Amino acid sequence: MISNFTLKGNKIILKNTGEYFGALGDFEYNIGDKLYEFAIMENKEFDKLKAIYSQLIRLVCYAKEIDSKEEKLDCFFKMFQIVRACLNFSPYTHFYTQILIDIIVKTYNTKTFRTDLLFKSQIGVLIEDSKYYPDEIYRDLEEDEYTPEILFIKWNEEIEKISKKKHTEYMKFFETIRDLLIENLIEKKTDLKDRLELISKYSNNSLVRNLSVPEKIFLYDAKRVFDLNYFNTKPAHALFLDTKFKIKYVCDTIFSPQERKLDVDKIVDIIKEKNIVAEEVYELENAEEQIRFELFKVIQNNFVINKCENCGRLFIPATTSNNPYQKGRNDQKYCNNPYLNTGKTCKEIGALNKQKEKAQESRIQAEFNREYKRMHGLHYNHQKAFKEKKFKEWSKKARELRDSFKDKDDQLDEFKIELQKLSNMYYIIDK
Ligand SMILES: [Zn+2]
Repeated sequence: MISNFTLKGNKIILKNTGEYFGALGDFEYNIGDKLYEFAIMENKEFDKLKAIYSQLIRLVCYAKEIDSKEEKLDCFFKMFQIVRACLNFSPYTHFYTQILIDIIVKTYNTKTFRTDLLFKSQIGVLIEDSKYYPDEIYRDLEEDEYTPEILFIKWNEEIEKISKKKHTEYMKFFETIRDLLIENLIEKKTDLKDRLELISKYSNNSLVRNLSVPEKIFLYDAKRVFDLNYFNTKPAHALFLDTKFKIKYVCDTIFSPQERKLDVDKIVDIIKEKNIVAEEVYELENAEEQIRFELFKVIQNNFVINKCENCGRLFIPATTSNNPYQKGRNDQKYCNNPYLNTGKTCKEIGALNKQKEKAQESRIQAEFNREYKRMHGLHYNHQKAFKEKKFKEWSKKARELRDSFKDKDDQLDEFKIELQKLSNMYYIIDK
């Protein structure tokens, strides 16, 4: 199945007007955003998709099994709402949702388990149960076009009454397909996470950032960002560069026969006047291409992907710029997500850790702490000779001394001597 995608600024737009059982209108998402969100999704999140798909199965089955044309039409539009809900869950469900609907509709229409459609879509789902193996006749049959008009005819195609037994059998099949599709999507997600982790390793490296786009793609390809889990005999460096995103130009205005006959200068006038723009459209065929296409854009635009040093999630560093994608290096180490049930975000935990680390790191501070403990002990044990007031005076001066040696760990010995001198002014142990 082919779908059209366009780019507008930082957005990827899935263009669809219902063909291939896709969404009725455009669906926009920021380059990178949904990709990261998808990559770090937990597997249990996909239960939500399973619930939506179950709802979709029930709806399409109902529409196929009822007689009322009106109700069928009603269901047709409800289907598009569910398709949109799937896209909201994640835009990478796009190709999966289409196949699921197509399989249900055509299984009813042809009274055959239409697993051949899975293979035709090349998403790499394998069927283990032999009773669902693709039918030979349909395997070699070319599918009709996927225009909304043709799809609507298929949707409305009359079928023989379905027995309860048949219905149960079909449901079992559709649920099997649903689970296989979701399983495949989860695999895509895991695979994508590996790829993004590889990119995150390099995306903040100034050496890499300064490479040209082809150089970068070559590097990422060598580092297996694009061909992870792909068993291909071609040289690795050719794999990604071989993937052509078919580009076409689509224009929503058509000239009338009279306009066509006009002179060039007149036509140019009309083009300017009507503000006619042809859109550059990319044809993508499956989720794998959809993801690769976006990864390509992520690399091309030098996006930064960081890995949180606290929780390990991938995240896009925050930026003050209005355009989050035109930013430079970013050293943000922690993400802004709440961490477990600490009530704190990773960023806050990171700041605390940093403080602790700093305290641990500073040898001046360690020396101060040691001496403070000693002096406090002396004051505690000799309250008459070393009064509270005196101890407080000492600790104030000692802190000042410590602060004057801040970040001067290399002058530790000098600090030790000075601190000792100060302490001796307040209390000298009789030896
Ligand atoms: Zn985090």
